[in-house]
Amino acid sequence: MSATNLLHIQHLSKIFHSAKGDVKALHNIQLDIREGEFVTVIGPSGCGKSTLLKIIAGLDVDYNGTVSLGGRTVEGPGIDKGFIFQEPRLFPWLTVERNIAADLSLRKPEVRKKVDELIELVRLKGFEKSYPRELSGGMAQRVAIARALLRNPKVLLLDEPFGALDAFTRAHMQEVLLDIWERNRTTMIFVTHDIDEAVFLANRIIVLKPRPGAIQNVIRVDLTFPRKKSSTAFQQLRYKVLGEFDKIEELELVGGAGI
Ligand code: ADP
Ligand code: MG
Repeated sequence: MSATNLLHIQHLSKIFHSAKGDVKALHNIQLDIREGEFVTVIGPSGCGKSTLLKIIAGLDVDYNGTVSLGGRTVEGPGIDKGFIFQEPRLFPWLTVERNIAADLSLRKPEVRKKVDELIELVRLKGFEKSYPRELSGGMAQRVAIARALLRNPKVLLLDEPFGALDAFTRAHMQEVLLDIWERNRTTMIFVTHDIDEAVFLANRIIVLKPRPGAIQNVIRVDLTFPRKKSSTAFQQLRYKVLGEFDKIEELELVGGAGI
């Protein structure tokens, strides 16, 4: 039985108008994402990954085409869409639990219960009363993830969320995120420029190419979880993604020669 379609993107194009001229950031993107899917988006810098994510999030509504989530046109940000940036963006003057609760009161039993569950989920038990300055980068990002999950969003949008972390913390965060996904089945759209990360997490990898940002290819990842980065099957998928990058480079060279 196939899961229901959650995100529907058709003929999506985006042009930035600036003093230096127009930048075609996205061109004719067609993409459908099913409920519960884990999709990673990868591509060279400037290929429109953040632009695509912001449009899905409703943070940028100045585009051409159709973007709908759960059957409704995306017209702005909302609680059905959680967003995680590369930096955690916590309130430094609030404790972990109050950062997670955001504008809701922890005195309400249902809020308290939900926040406690989330703290458990992101493995921060014992740090409820800590302040952001007392946390490591990975812990702070886990607070941001918990906060984004507070209102049970339909989709979690993550823009290079582990990009600023060291390799070990990053690997740990990937495990934590997969665990969250396996428990909650929140649909994930995860932007990265790390091939290992893209293969490790995804059911499907969307490879984007630049100038203008467009879909180069979509690679299905059928490896079972938990995955082993050193396995032959994993490495084969890595090569497949690298192959797409080579094609992009060739396109760039041809394009460059013509100018
Ligand atoms: P990525 O996240 O893949 O690195 P972005 O989505 O940030 O790429 O950017 C895609 C393209 O759009 C780039 O060429 C970038 O310079 C351009 N761009 C992004 N934001 C703006 C903006 N606010 N104004 C003008 N150009 C922009
Ligand atoms: Mg970006």
